[in-house]
Amino acid sequence: MKQINCNNFNLIDDPNKADTLIINTCGFIEAAKEESINTILNAVKQKKEGKIKKVIVAGCLSERYADDLKEEIPEVDAFFGTEKYEDILNEIGGKLKRELLGERTLSGPPHTAYLKISEGCDHPCSFCAIPLMRGLHKSKPIEVLVKEAEFLAKNNTKELILIAQDTTDYGKDIYGERCLHKLLSELSKIDGIKWIRVMYAYPSHFPQEVIKEIAENPKICNYIDIPLQHISDSVLKSMRRGVTSNKIKELITDFRTKIPNVVIRTTFIVGYPNETENEFYLLCKYIEEAKFDRIGVFTFSVEENTSSYILGNPISEKVKEERKNKLMEIQKDISHESNQKIVGKNMDVLIERQEGEFYVGRTYRDAPEVDGEILIPTNTKKIIFGNFYKVKIYDCNEYDLFGKIVF
Ligand code: SF4
Repeated sequence: MKQINCNNFNLIDDPNKADTLIINTCGFIEAAKEESINTILNAVKQKKEGKIKKVIVAGCLSERYADDLKEEIPEVDAFFGTEKYEDILNEIGGKLKRELLGERTLSGPPHTAYLKISEGCDHPCSFCAIPLMRGLHKSKPIEVLVKEAEFLAKNNTKELILIAQDTTDYGKDIYGERCLHKLLSELSKIDGIKWIRVMYAYPSHFPQEVIKEIAENPKICNYIDIPLQHISDSVLKSMRRGVTSNKIKELITDFRTKIPNVVIRTTFIVGYPNETENEFYLLCKYIEEAKFDRIGVFTFSVEENTSSYILGNPISEKVKEERKNKLMEIQKDISHESNQKIVGKNMDVLIERQEGEFYVGRTYRDAPEVDGEILIPTNTKKIIFGNFYKVKIYDCNEYDLFGKIVF
C-alpha cells in the first residue's frame, strides 16, 4: 500500500469510489474460494456498468487457478499470483520504489499490525493446498523484520501480531534452526511495542524455547493460537499432522503449567473423510475436557491435488454442519467459563474504537477479529483510541466482557 500511495495513486477502501479494484484472493478452502469468486464477479459487474475502469486479481486463488480464471472471467484485466507486488504496480502504471521496501501503510488503525514472518509451508497436511499455492517455507531475516517493526512502532503500532503458515518453523531455512524465540526477543526490544502475539503455531515438535520466551518475556502475550485440527489418532494420521493425540494433550498441559494465565485458541476440522461417529465423539469429549479458551471450527472441503483428494468427500455437508454446530455449542459454555474467570479483575485493555454507547477494546487474551472484546460504557472517561487503559471487568457473556476504566 505504501508503494501505491508513493506512486501518486489515491488508495481508498470504498470500492464504489475507485477507478481500479485490486482483489486479493484466498484459495484455502471451498468457502474462501466462493467468497473470492463472488467478489471478482461483483467487480466485473461494476466494470460492465461503467462504474470502474479496471479489475486486477491477485493472491492464492489466482496463483492456483490462473488459467481457469482467465478462461472463465475474461473481463478481468490481469491475474497475478502471490507476492507479485511489482507486477501489480506496473499494471496500474506505477513503479516499484526499492528504497521504500520494508515500509508500510496500514489499512486499519495503526496501533495493531500484522507482521508476516515467513511465507510458504513444509508440512504435508493432507487436506491443505497452501503449500501448492505458497511453496516451501521461506523466512524473512530477523533484521528485515526488526526494521519493519521499528518502522511500524515509529508510526504508533503498539501490538504486533506474528503470522505465517507455521510460525514455529521460523528461521529453519535461513539459519539452519528454528528460532522464533530469538525473533520474539529481538522484536520485544523495540520501544513502543507493548504486545507481541503469536498466531498459527504448529503442534508437532513445538519449540520449548518459544514456551520459555512467552512465559518470561513480559511483552509477549501469554496467548497461543495453535490449530490442532483433530484429536482422534486415526484422523490425525490420515491428515498427516505428524502428531498424536497424546502428544497434543502433553503439549497443552505444558502450556498451562509453564505459561501463567495462558489463553489457548485452536481450530478443528470436522467432516474429514475418515471421521466416523466415534472419531467425532472423541473430538467432542476432548473439547469438553480440554476447555480451550476459544475454538474455531471448519468443515472439510475436498481440494484438488492434495493427498486427501483420493479419499473423496463421503460425509454430507449437512452432517458436517451439524458436527460444526455441535462443537460450537459445547464451546459456548466453556468460553463463558473462561471469561468469567476474568470478572472482578483489573486488566490492561487496548481501546480501539467506539460503537454506539461503548468503547471497544481487547486484553492480551483476545486477538483482533477472531476473539472477544471488552465493552466499556462511554460515560466513564474520554479516551484516546489506540492507547492502553486499566479496566475493571464487571460482567461477561460467552463472547465479550464488560468493564469500567479505573486509574
Ligand atoms: S501447516 Fe498444514 S494446514 Fe497449515 S499451511 Fe502447512 S500444510 Fe497447510
